[in-house]
Amino acid sequence: MSTFAKTEPSEECPQWCEYTFCTEAELPRDRMHRSEIIEVAGIARTRHLDSNTGQVVRSAEPVMMNLLASSYLEERRTWVVIATDECALEISIETAIELYAALGEVLSLLERP
Ligand SMILES: [Zn+2]
Repeated sequence: MSTFAKTEPSEECPQWCEYTFCTEAELPRDRMHRSEIIEVAGIARTRHLDSNTGQVVRSAEPVMMNLLASSYLEERRTWVVIATDECALEISIETAIELYAALGEVLSLLERP
């Protein structure tokens, strides 16, 4: 097998694929079409239990979110991924559209006088 063949994707890439993780250079279980990553730096509310006082402590912490689309090879569904260092939410495109609309509704509530 030539070096060139090892870098070819095993199936045709969707137009949004960055052609990074879908080649034969990846282990078969790890091969996926993946879009460009859009980074969002933000602030998130966190909670933890203070073991000394037994009280819940709330704080605002910086968070980096990575947003992208992905689909494992031979997978029919494309997922929208919102990932931080601690967790990832992988939702269907339909769910992402619903979430986008719902976020707009919540933000519009906050704009009301
Ligand atoms: Zn691809």
